Amino acid sequence: MDKKTKMEKTEKKYGWKGADSKMKKKIMKFCDGYIDFLNAAKTEREAAIEIVRIAREAGFKDIKEVESLVPGSRVYSVNRSKSVYMAVVGEDVLTEGFNLVGAHIDSPRLDLKQNPLYEDGNMALLKTHYYGGIKKYQWTTIPLALHGVVAKADGSVATVNIGEDEKDPVFLVTDLLPHLSAKQNAKKLAEGVPAENLNIVIGSIPSESAEEENIKSTVLELLAEKYAMKEEDFKSAELEAVPAAKARSLGIDGGMIAGYGQDDRVCAYPELMAMTEMAKKGIPKRTSLAIFADKEEIGSMGNTGMSSHNFELFLMELLEKSGIVHPYALQRTLSHARALSADVTAAFDPTYAEVMEKNNASWVGKGVNIKKYTGTRGKSGASDANAEYVGFVRGIFEKAGIVYQSSEMGKVDEGGGGTIAYILADRGMEVLDCGVPVHSMHSPYESASKYDIYMAYLAYTAFYESF
Ligand code: MN
Ligand code: MN
Repeated sequence: MDKKTKMEKTEKKYGWKGADSKMKKKIMKFCDGYIDFLNAAKTEREAAIEIVRIAREAGFKDIKEVESLVPGSRVYSVNRSKSVYMAVVGEDVLTEGFNLVGAHIDSPRLDLKQNPLYEDGNMALLKTHYYGGIKKYQWTTIPLALHGVVAKADGSVATVNIGEDEKDPVFLVTDLLPHLSAKQNAKKLAEGVPAENLNIVIGSIPSESAEEENIKSTVLELLAEKYAMKEEDFKSAELEAVPAAKARSLGIDGGMIAGYGQDDRVCAYPELMAMTEMAKKGIPKRTSLAIFADKEEIGSMGNTGMSSHNFELFLMELLEKSGIVHPYALQRTLSHARALSADVTAAFDPTYAEVMEKNNASWVGKGVNIKKYTGTRGKSGASDANAEYVGFVRGIFEKAGIVYQSSEMGKVDEGGGGTIAYILADRGMEVLDCGVPVHSMHSPYESASKYDIYMAYLAYTAFYESF
């Protein structure tokens, strides 16, 4: 055997090339489940419902239903219908720390304003205020669905979901025709479609009973009929316009997935699967925790975002119900904790290669990605994982045969971003960013590689099982 052949034989194959037909089948099956999750859970509220449904199927109980905890106990807690915490109690005492994977379940979208409905141009329209970092022009002339809740003054809450069923109508933000776009085309891309132009068409048939504002009246009559709501109920509603399109396999080989809200469901779903599958296998040595947070896209603020101390309350309940009462128990638990911040990163896109530095970019189909630090311009606002901890996580991944890559989000000074990692780190945990590379992040239709999604699942599983 000559030297070259020997090298080829022993060279480890990465990515799809390292996946045999059996593994490819597993990847495809796993991602079928993920596509269903994307279609069932387009908002944080829907994701929370879906997560609890899957958790309960795996034997998890609401922590409120549980008197005391023992190794193997599986519990969850829902924070105001928008974020979820889950735990599997390990053999080790909780103050020795826990293994946490944390993702977020909110995604960029168009929120309705609190006085949204008006009539103009012989149509009824809805005013919006966008949520998260969007490129506004991407949200015109695509089918939109309305999801959310209307909380009324009498305490009742109506759930709204219009535009997902094939028989449902959809909603739309119009754009200017090219024939009359000379001025719009000359504007900067970011200014071509101003935020106040993101108005959603909701109706066009005048009411038979109303004298004036006929079309708006039709809309109100239908809302009253369907949701028993009045116009003033918009004031206490959370209605979110999201792309109505279904998630689909991408490419003739079906190797990728295109769909809305993959930032960050593409990490949340593998995290949920890793958590529930691990729980079915047996009792982990260290307690395993999962966070599904809201409000990441607007800074993690508020009582449903990662900054909320409701997460500590969940930990305190775990401690209390495990019989651990000590003045420093919470801080001790936190400072011994190990976490992965499960969030997406930007995959190298050959069409926009100029924003990437190739030696430190992540690629679709090359595995789950770790990011030692995030931040913008001189690591400002970064969560920077300690070298020792990155080495520790690498050790777990390498032992488990996880295919992973290491990157930062783009060229230095090109931009940047962050995740919930810094908030976990602030509380004393070791944290490393670890997630799936995506294309067209924050667009109405993001894409990611099925290989990387499955590798994220294996990585989170190995992490949960580590001690
Ligand atoms: Mn994210
Ligand atoms: Mn994001």
